[in-house]
Amino acid sequence: MAQHALLLDALTVLQPLQSLPSMLAIRDIRRRIAASRPDLRDRGVVADLLALDPLSCLRVLRFANAPMFGPPRQASAERAVGVRELVDGLGTSAVLRTLDVPVVEPDRTRRLRELWLHSLATACAARRLAVRFGSEDPEIAYLRGLLHDLTAWLQLLGQHHNGAATNLDGHDLARRWNLPLDDSTLGPIPQRLSRALASRTPPSPAELIALAESLAEHADFRHPDSPEPCDRSASLAASAQDVLVEAHEIAHEVEARLTRFGLDRKGCDDAGGSHRFGNDEDATLFQGRTRGEAYELVLGVLTCRAARTYREIESMVCAAALRHLDLDRAFLVGVDLDSGRAFLRSKADLSRRHVPRRAIQPTRTELDLLRDAATSSAARILVRSEPPAGLCGTLASDRALAIPIPTERTPALFLVADRALTGRVLDLDVDGTAASALASCSSLLFENLELRHRRARAERDALTDPLTRLANRGYGLARLNQAIAGSRRTGQPLSLIMADLDEFKQLNDTLGHLEGDRALRIAADVLRKTCRQSDTVCRYGGEEFLVVLPDIEASDATILATRLFTAVADAGERAGLPLTISIGLSALRDEDDVDALVGRADRALYASKSRGRNRFSVDT
Ligand code: GH3
Ligand code: MG
Ligand code: MG
Repeated sequence: MAQHALLLDALTVLQPLQSLPSMLAIRDIRRRIAASRPDLRDRGVVADLLALDPLSCLRVLRFANAPMFGPPRQASAERAVGVRELVDGLGTSAVLRTLDVPVVEPDRTRRLRELWLHSLATACAARRLAVRFGSEDPEIAYLRGLLHDLTAWLQLLGQHHNGAATNLDGHDLARRWNLPLDDSTLGPIPQRLSRALASRTPPSPAELIALAESLAEHADFRHPDSPEPCDRSASLAASAQDVLVEAHEIAHEVEARLTRFGLDRKGCDDAGGSHRFGNDEDATLFQGRTRGEAYELVLGVLTCRAARTYREIESMVCAAALRHLDLDRAFLVGVDLDSGRAFLRSKADLSRRHVPRRAIQPTRTELDLLRDAATSSAARILVRSEPPAGLCGTLASDRALAIPIPTERTPALFLVADRALTGRVLDLDVDGTAASALASCSSLLFENLELRHRRARAERDALTDPLTRLANRGYGLARLNQAIAGSRRTGQPLSLIMADLDEFKQLNDTLGHLEGDRALRIAADVLRKTCRQSDTVCRYGGEEFLVVLPDIEASDATILATRLFTAVADAGERAGLPLTISIGLSALRDEDDVDALVGRADRALYASKSRGRNRFSVDT
């Protein structure tokens, strides 16, 4: 029941903008823009295009202000940015995606077109007024002007969609969508103006919009509900000359902005029926997306089979969801299904904005759906709650697909994806099935990586001494064997050190075996750090170590041996342990094998012990 109510609520919010998500989507307008061949690689051009479209601006604003990007640093009024900054912040790819909505027929769009031109003119007027009065950022004033009639937009879109007015007004939408729009500029704008254009005192944002709207009317960009042309500008009569000039400039600017993209005021004002184009197919203005073929998805996923980290796979899964499944945004979300905490692990949303890592608390309903999805291994659709909260609230999403990715890892992983940029429909059957295929493929990659990690760990463990993390005896002797063969081949020298802790039994007996273990680790660290990367240090037995020194003459090895026994004694002193080593050194001779070389190092070590310990001897 509660779920049902939420769904209805979400639909009432969605529908007005779903029927017509962009003015630039109307067939004749889209065709004219396409014919003007705008350079969509140019960020300025993309910003200018977006600035023509109040409906796309709404979706871009919502996206840019999604709570996932972190809490707003300033109060809502200061959070506002202009169109250009929005495009700079998100990048052109995300904005172009937002504009890339399916084409709609021009039928019954006359009043919407009127409102559109009125909004454009108000925006241009607001921008000019902001410059004139120096009262606020002109670009922010432009955006406010463009969106000031939000309530009227929603009403007209509702009628356009199903002939019925929506119960949603601009203030509701601004609140639900976390839009940084000043409440006072969202209409209804007071009809009676309290101030004249000539006044010197800077107007408040609401006054500025009211003035701008009057000027727009004066320039003959009427609001579709406006009773009579120029009625609302009556109070501007006092500065009539000034108003005429301004209105003229505004009309000029609007026309220039339209002409840039092959549009004109008259054509746009029309219901579209009078200028039907031929029956050519739609000019593709944007890249044009299609749902990928299944094999492309599989090949795309397989490019990641050599991934070394989970993160690489996670990014790939998100990117593949966009590329192959025609989704707008995809996230990899880790959810601890017990504690109910979620983390965004990866995202692909075409924007270059960074998402700070922090915990998200999914709503109770979302958690139930996620648990259900995990146990049934099937996709579910999460629906935004009212007020917005949880995952959908954080992502600024009305509906999001959640697909479990079966892995053994905890927390549970989900692919969460939506079409929030374009507002296109998300279908549990069609999109859920495709996304489940992606999730299953990616779970194979996760498993594959997990197995590769385990195998690498097992191989490492088989060769490593667990206490000191040095090479173990088997590996050390194998390396010695290789080194002997290498030395025979190249004629380079080879030296071997055997080291043994002095009076170690006594250390164990007096301080205990735990301290003994610590002493072993300290000695091992000193050996590891003092020797070169190309040397092999191994734990040969209890408190005995072997160091294989390729390419080292016996004379150079004695220098290293001196360094070693002093370094061990120093480290012991620092650790408060009576720690010294004795060393025996041997150098490879022609007839030597492993046993002979080790045997002579052992004899030299014995000599060091009998000469009093904490020293080295060389077997010559
Ligand atoms: P020396 O100076 O002649 O080498 O005398 P030592 O006491 O060091 O030699 P001995 O061979 O008598 O004793 C070696 C001791 O090392 C005996 C054994 O308990 C201890 N030991 C061997 N492996 C380990 C280990 O992994 N941890 C600890 N704590 N002690 C070990
Ligand atoms: Mg010893
Ligand atoms: Mg010993």
